[in-house]
Amino acid sequence: MGQLLDALLQLQSVERQLSDVRRRLRTRQLAVATQQKRIDQFRAEQKELEDRSKLRRKEADNLELDLKTRQQQVDKLRAALNAAKTNKEYAAILTQINSLKADNAKQEEDGLKILQEVEAIKTQAAQAVEKVAAEEKRLAEIQASNTEQIAKLQAMTDQLNTQRAESAKGISPEVLSIFERLALSHAGEAMAPIEIHGKRPPHEYVCGGCYMALRAEHANALHSRDEVRTCDNCGRILYLVKDPQAQRNPV
Ligand SMILES: [Zn+2]
Repeated sequence: MGQLLDALLQLQSVERQLSDVRRRLRTRQLAVATQQKRIDQFRAEQKELEDRSKLRRKEADNLELDLKTRQQQVDKLRAALNAAKTNKEYAAILTQINSLKADNAKQEEDGLKILQEVEAIKTQAAQAVEKVAAEEKRLAEIQASNTEQIAKLQAMTDQLNTQRAESAKGISPEVLSIFERLALSHAGEAMAPIEIHGKRPPHEYVCGGCYMALRAEHANALHSRDEVRTCDNCGRILYLVKDPQAQRNPV
């Protein structure tokens, strides 16, 4: 392989490392946002439970107030019962009392059920509070380790950018611009090895980047010329691998 393709491969190696470091940086930065989202979700859950508990508690209070009013009615009717002058009047008041008492018993039962529900919701809300606290602790841990890791990754990026500038020195601006465009659209993989299939001619040629068939002309030209030839399908810059074994597992 000639000087140009060697330089491009060197650049590709730096570009690949840069791409990896950038991805790790993004993951780190995303981790904080993801954790914050989790916390917001648990907080919303907690608030919803607390609101529901308050609402049900109010319902229970209203029932109790209602119950008191009717109990007063029963008390009044009892007094009226004692003062009843006829059997008919007595029977009528008694029926009213019994009907009110039945209603009250039912309402008391409903009220108790609601109060039990309120207790259950409160337990859930307390668990939600614990969850929020645990996730907040986790966020603090992520932030602490992130600060260190992000600084490290940023230092690596700076170092790789210097290396990249160094590697790009011997490459013409035209070729460099082709390379950069490709690196951007293929996550740092601007180049692809030509895979040669078949033990003897006619060989089949495949692009190691997109795995589509290549015209033999690309391989033939690269045997003798140090030039930029791109895959007709994915556009990556093609190169020949000296050691065919290494071609199977490109580094
Ligand atoms: Zn290709």
